[in-house]
Amino acid sequence: MIYLIPTPIGNLEDMTLRGIRVLKEVDLILAEDTRTSQKLLNHYDIATPMQSFHMHNEHHKVSQILQRVKHGDTVALISDAGTPGISDPGYLLVRQALKLEIEVCCLPGATALIPALVQSGLPSDRFVFEGFLPQKKGRQARIQQMAEEVRTVVFYESPHKLIKTLNQMLPYFGGERKLSVARELTKKFESQYRGSLEGALDFFEQHPPKGEFVLVVEGNKKK
Ligand code: SAM
Repeated sequence: MIYLIPTPIGNLEDMTLRGIRVLKEVDLILAEDTRTSQKLLNHYDIATPMQSFHMHNEHHKVSQILQRVKHGDTVALISDAGTPGISDPGYLLVRQALKLEIEVCCLPGATALIPALVQSGLPSDRFVFEGFLPQKKGRQARIQQMAEEVRTVVFYESPHKLIKTLNQMLPYFGGERKLSVARELTKKFESQYRGSLEGALDFFEQHPPKGEFVLVVEGNKKK
């Protein structure tokens, strides 16, 4: 059995009781960054052996891990924060495990996109999640596509690209489009900008972006 276990996105209290129990019970924990995850394991007195599993060794590591699981070991995958497989390593392991008829179980828990969406005040009955936008190639086309989307659009952005992204969105979305920017969810300096795209640009010019961000943009009403 392979478990994917969400871990807190800032506030250590956001670890579920089940998540802690499973991390204590499995034979091996795979972590994106073992140094980051060690703090979590120490906090919850979890003594399970841990190995690294990240974007760079994912391909190489998958078959090795799956052999262990085939021989009866249980494994849990965690990422630095939030739900594994959501803009984090995990997808390849899940896909290969299912091919080998290994059971996969993702526990519900912390992730940044859901609280950002729900507290945005924008429609949450239907939405699309775009992960991170492409760095260069295809970035503009993606933004253009997103501007046509009728459902609420949620995506992740780094602080140093936030203003650039808002500027790139402006010609396609228009300055009046409503959006919400969640910052530092669950952390001490959590805040949420709610307003128009133009207003967000003004706001972040005056308050330079620091920390982690989720953007939630109203769907296209003209379609
Ligand atoms: N697996 C994670 C999840 O389930 O949300 C996402 C990991 S991705 C590598 C990291 C990005 O998620 C950040 O750049 C930011 O956009 C978003 N994020 C993670 N934690 C956040 C937080 N506390 N507040 C706002 N955004 C956050």
